[in-house]
Amino acid sequence: MTATATPFVLKESVLQPETAVYDHVLPAGRGWSHPIRRGQVFRIVDLEGNQAVDTLFFNGHDADERYSAADTIRAQGNLYLTTGSCLMSSEGRPLLSIVADTCGRHDTLGGACSAESNQVRYALDKKYMHNCRDSFLLELARLGKGMGKRDLPSNINFFMNVPVTPEGGLSFADGVSAPGRYVELRAEMDVLALISNCPQLNNPCNAYNPTPVRLLIWDARAVS
Ligand SMILES: [Zn+2]
Repeated sequence: MTATATPFVLKESVLQPETAVYDHVLPAGRGWSHPIRRGQVFRIVDLEGNQAVDTLFFNGHDADERYSAADTIRAQGNLYLTTGSCLMSSEGRPLLSIVADTCGRHDTLGGACSAESNQVRYALDKKYMHNCRDSFLLELARLGKGMGKRDLPSNINFFMNVPVTPEGGLSFADGVSAPGRYVELRAEMDVLALISNCPQLNNPCNAYNPTPVRLLIWDARAVS
């Protein structure tokens, strides 16, 4: 860290896993979706450290309203997500707020890996490797709501470190997370969460070793 870098502000949660109403371990390389009701709290735990968790959120009643990276960055005046960040929708409304974070920084610029990006960035024969875009599409197909490619805007990469240089450059850097670190979000409206637990093996976003994450949800009354 350079002398001018802002230190991460970490915030722990008081919620205990035993009181969660939902508790699921998602293996590396798998997709997942689940409704989160307004007031519920959603935690993603990086079980083994340095795992990228590609994530999107939609209005639970109208998927045409969805996470907007541009509106989120503009609203908070900062490129990184952490405690206090409000995830804004394409309609300019709050979807969820980050209420605890023991990692300190999450990316929303790097996008999701895809067959095309694997081929262009790494090698022709990487095209057929597992990738987040395909995991998103498989999960959307499983949901059966008629959602597809047009429903995949720029996403969030929880726990992924994509520092922006003073010149405005982007790079996929070694992770800043560690085993057991988590991020926790409170839903500000009923939302649908969509996750691809990134299978990428060709850059350091997963420390070249994709690993599982734990997903927990608490009811609003457990929080208050
Ligand atoms: Zn990925």
